[in-house]
Amino acid sequence: MGRLIAIVGRPNVGKSTLFNRLTKTRAAIVNDTSGTTRDRQYGKTEWNGMEMSVVDTGGWVVNSDDIFEGEINKQVQLAIDEADVILFMVDIKGGVTDLDEMVASILRRSNKPVIVVTNKDDNNEGIYAEAEFYSLGLGQPYSISAINGTGTGDLLDEVVRKMPKEEVESVDESLPRFAIVGRPNAGKSSLINALMDEQRNIVTDIAGTTRDSIYSRYNKFGFDFYLVDTAGIRKKNKVNEDIEYYSVLRSIRAIEYSDVCILIIDATRGIESQDVNIFSIIEKNRKGLVVLVNKWDIAHDKSMKSIDYMEQTIKARFAPFTDFPIVFGSALTKQRIFKVLQEAINVQENRKRIIPTSQLNNAMQEIIGAYPPPATKGKLVKIKYVTMLKEAKVPTFVFFCNLPQWIKDPYKRYLENQIRERWNFAGTPINLYFRQK
Ligand code: GDP
Ligand code: GDP
Repeated sequence: MGRLIAIVGRPNVGKSTLFNRLTKTRAAIVNDTSGTTRDRQYGKTEWNGMEMSVVDTGGWVVNSDDIFEGEINKQVQLAIDEADVILFMVDIKGGVTDLDEMVASILRRSNKPVIVVTNKDDNNEGIYAEAEFYSLGLGQPYSISAINGTGTGDLLDEVVRKMPKEEVESVDESLPRFAIVGRPNAGKSSLINALMDEQRNIVTDIAGTTRDSIYSRYNKFGFDFYLVDTAGIRKKNKVNEDIEYYSVLRSIRAIEYSDVCILIIDATRGIESQDVNIFSIIEKNRKGLVVLVNKWDIAHDKSMKSIDYMEQTIKARFAPFTDFPIVFGSALTKQRIFKVLQEAINVQENRKRIIPTSQLNNAMQEIIGAYPPPATKGKLVKIKYVTMLKEAKVPTFVFFCNLPQWIKDPYKRYLENQIRERWNFAGTPINLYFRQK
């Protein structure tokens, strides 16, 4: 949790190729859930049992050869602000360019772990060219071929070695953790202020940490939970605030450390791609979701028709995950801010819901009987029984069947919809796994 690798470098060195290589294999393994991959900038990878997030910062900037130095500069600055390990990619065939020098000089001044990745070493001749890149002053380069995969194992070994040790804050595990996320000016700090101003010191930083703590406890009006990274939300970074993807990158850590995310959408602007990008990180991390349509106090049209329309629009953009609460309110006038908290609590309850195995199998008999999995290549696909994993953080159903690989996405969605119709899993993704029996 909370380990972030950022890939930086000038255009065309192979950043997105490496990003795909690192994140695809894992997607193939875990993708028996009905979640979908949408963005190419954020994904998950795993190496030697360590789970890490990867961002391709190049996916967010204008990617052309005449790219502004200013853009690269911001891209690198963002990586320094947010990532734990930075992969600085260069093209081994092209030699060191002016842009490479510029990036290197910014990275040398940071104290983040950096690994120089000399890419396009398809024939393993890197040793000859590495010396030139060693002169960037960022240590021994790692030669890889992002296209055919050579060298990436050694590279990941080094990433794992350089990854800072987790500083675990001691928190009460029985309390839920809520993150407040959304694009700039949606109203995140206003919501936090609205909650806190009820009484100055109800939000207390966890004692004993020198740096900003990740969690603040909120214990008032019958609510007891942690807010994630409130200091980070209030501390605005003026340099980067104007960049579209800044808020997306800023959200990653908060989302990863949370159980349920309160995603704020600005009613006066409607839903835009940045909202969808943040949503997609929430979904990839299988976190709970409550949407707050904020600034409802100044919405022009507050009719039922307009509420319906807004709900439909949000759900259409987040589909196929559509089963989550949407609250219309205002951080400024405090209208329905406690409703938002209550919904987040409900979602966390739903995340912990375990359906007794017998009840589950009775219902499944009906569900599967009404519409059995389609036969494939002349063979009947049979689901024999289903259980829920007791220790999972996300509701997880394991279906035992004869031919798990032949149960396709449309059928998985049918099962998921039926489950959601019968039991309350509002606001939480659910995982469906299919195993051979
Ligand atoms: P980005 O702009 O840094 O994200 O670069 P891309 O990943 O889009 O790659 C730019 C070009 O280099 C594409 O044509 C890739 O196919 C090619 N490329 C990427 N990695 C390798 C590699 O390891 N070897 C070779 N020969 N080509 C590569
Ligand atoms: P953040 O960047 O997401 O933290 O957004 P802020 O909380 O700083 O809010 C951005 C602007 O929107 C500020 O001028 C707020 O006063 C305003 N704002 C936030 N919430 C509301 C609301 O519910 N109603 C109205 N009318 N304005 C709001």
